[in-house]
Order: sequence, then C-alpha cells, then structure tokens
Amino acid sequence: MARLRIHRIPARTDNYLWLAHEPDTDTVAIVDPADAEPVIAKCGELGLHLTHILNTHHHGDHIGGNLALKAHYDCVIIGPAADRDRIPGIDIAVGEDDTVALGTETARVFDVPGHTRGHIAYWFANSDALFCGDTLFALGCGRLFEGTPAQMWNSLSKFAPLPDSTRVYCAHEYTQANARFALTVDPNNKALRQRAAEIDRLRAKDTPTVPSTLGEERATNPFLRAEDAGLKAAIGLTTADPVAVFAETRKRKDNF
Ligand code: ZN
Ligand code: FE
Repeated sequence: MARLRIHRIPARTDNYLWLAHEPDTDTVAIVDPADAEPVIAKCGELGLHLTHILNTHHHGDHIGGNLALKAHYDCVIIGPAADRDRIPGIDIAVGEDDTVALGTETARVFDVPGHTRGHIAYWFANSDALFCGDTLFALGCGRLFEGTPAQMWNSLSKFAPLPDSTRVYCAHEYTQANARFALTVDPNNKALRQRAAEIDRLRAKDTPTVPSTLGEERATNPFLRAEDAGLKAAIGLTTADPVAVFAETRKRKDNF
C-alpha cells in the first residue's frame, strides 16, 4: 500500500487545504476546501483529477469550495453525519468509527465535537496522517463555538491512542500566536520553550509550521496537557481534574 502523498495549499489569510494523493489508484482528495480556485490550480500543476472532498466541519473556510469543485470534477463529498444539513453537496455522511477509503488507503473517522457540534477528524493510520480541521492545532485547539470544555477534552482524548509519529494536518497556521499563549500557562516546559524559539525562526522566513507530530503536541501543547503537574501548578489548579484544567486554559486563551 502506497502512503498518501500530501500537498499543502495555502488559502485565505491562514488556512491550509490538504491535497491527499493515493498514487496506486490516483485517488485524490482535498480536505476542507475553503475555495475552489487554489485546488483547481494545484491539481492542474500536479496533473491530478480530484475524486473526493473530505470536510471536517461546516464553517465557511472549510466548505466554501465544495459546490464549485463538485461541478468541476464531479467528485464525491464526504462529511460529518451529525452536520449533514450544513455541508453543501454532501454525498456520504460519516461519524464515529466509520471508515473512509481513498484507493488503497483507509481513514478511521472520529466524532470530535467542541469547536462545532458536528466536527469530525480523519485518521489514515498507514499514512501516519490525522486531518483534524479546527479541533487540534499546532500548540492550540479550536475555539468552543458549539461545545463545552468537557466535550472538547473528550474529543482531544480520542487521539491519545494514536502513535507519536502521527502527523497533525490542522487547517490553520496559528502556531506562533499559540506558542506565545502556551508559554504563559506552561512556562517551565523546556520542550515548549525550544519549540517556540524554533517556530519564531520558521515564521521569520514565512515557513509553514504545519504539520507537526502528535508526539510534539503531547510534549508541548497545553490543551493536551491538562494532566501535567507542571502546567496545573503554573495555573494554580494543582488538584483539579483535567476538564477543569482544560476549561481554565481555554478560557485564558480566549482572553489572551
Ligand atoms: Zn472552524
Ligand atoms: Fe477554520
């Protein structure tokens, strides 16, 4: 089985659209097309024909290109069952533990409500790739527009069994601002301080910081570290449960 070849397409201010190409069968999916034009341009450049759209949630910067791409390529649109009414052109609705095949590669679907009530993530185990939309970001997580801290903590905890080597293909370049915040709640985390310095170096050259790996996120992302004694002490919640720690961290980020 050939692993997915994954291409980054920058769009709008800070969106990343991920083009996933399974080369054995020339199956080609775009994850969360904010707009159609940059996807058509990239497919043209690579000589590929788009066969699938994978949506993680209904926000405009994730579904904006759906209908134009479907008109252009007659591709199949896959999205969250819990939000099928808000996904333009949806053909196949999926949820927790469903699988999605792209040629020889297969994703497992996770329901990850919190940012929106219907948000899903796609994990391609053989390709070591997690497409998580606006649920998990490099050093951050999505804002809780339609969910509670307990829901989002539970959603993020679903990624716990995935290998450290898993690449985190999130949908935005928010990493540098996230790093500044992370340092305020986890100031004694040496791995975080090193990563923040590296991110500053990369961003000074306008280099993308996504994808990261789940291993890096577990070591440095405060929203995955609600059980870490150092972080809990730093925010004055030494004995609190993880949901309370996560909620406090998310609240501080909203006001940062
Ligand atoms: Zn969103
Ligand atoms: Fe977004």
